[in-house]
Amino acid sequence: MSRSNHPDGSRRRFLGTLAGSACLFGWLHTAVVRSQTATAPAGGQGGSGHHVAESEPLAQSLGYKDDASKVDKAKFSTFKPGEKCGNCRFFQGASGQSAGPCQIFGGELVSSTGWCSSYNAKT
Ligand code: SF4
Repeated sequence: MSRSNHPDGSRRRFLGTLAGSACLFGWLHTAVVRSQTATAPAGGQGGSGHHVAESEPLAQSLGYKDDASKVDKAKFSTFKPGEKCGNCRFFQGASGQSAGPCQIFGGELVSSTGWCSSYNAKT
């Protein structure tokens, strides 16, 4: 019989490996959660990823349109051609993104080609 001098040795190694794996899994889980939090859009409800709908009450009161060319120019006479979310100071999306968070809409997404009456040109 060639049993180990330490019959509990293999069990200890197994338990040690199991504990190490649990620690590694916990560390990886924490790292993933932190990286997801760090890349979430800034501002209010930005994490929801909700895209503002033109039919929503705030959007309607501000005359928000996904396509600036469809703005009701009679009702929102301050609109000037060339104005759009992508060049508004309240737009927080990266240049070239089709949509991004808007501070006026609590960080919810608006189209970079959109417009509302709270438009304020980036300086
Ligand atoms: S405030 Fe600016 S970015 Fe936000 S919806 Fe209005 S025009 Fe677009």
